Amino acid sequence: MILKILKYPEPVLSQPGEPVSEFDDKLRKLAADMFETTYDSKGIGLAAPQVGVSKRLTVIDLSMGKDPKDRLVLVNPEIVFREGKVYDEEGCLSFPDIREKVVRAAKVRIRAQNEHGKWFEMDADDLLSRCMQHEIDHVDGMLFIFRMSALKRDLNLRKIRKMQREGKW
Ligand SMILES: [Zn+2]
Repeated sequence: MILKILKYPEPVLSQPGEPVSEFDDKLRKLAADMFETTYDSKGIGLAAPQVGVSKRLTVIDLSMGKDPKDRLVLVNPEIVFREGKVYDEEGCLSFPDIREKVVRAAKVRIRAQNEHGKWFEMDADDLLSRCMQHEIDHVDGMLFIFRMSALKRDLNLRKIRKMQREGKW
């Protein structure tokens, strides 16, 4: 089922998600729906708050549905190690048409549970590292616009207000 993706400034996007404690079919159905929604929007990741569910859950698939091995469900994820810095462009399904350079750690190690509750650790670099940091920010209630320089943030907030006035947001 394709879910509705909420856009900034929906309040749920800025609230830290609740930890997930029930690893049941409902959680797995939500994760499956989030993958379907991500593919439908041509995205590579989506966090539960973006579909109005204030929980610490995110799905990532860099292959955009082409390779099942790339499907990652991160429940209660946290970054346990980060290294280096990269300044590169990113976008967000809750900010359509906005792309901007944001600083992220080059490499991360994350710790998370899968959809069955099993804990695992994983190292990532390049796009996967960036995507994980972006999605883990979402479950913390942090949005990429607040990772931009003050100048870029203000420019983009103005652009959003203009689109809102014109009914394009
Ligand atoms: Zn996002």
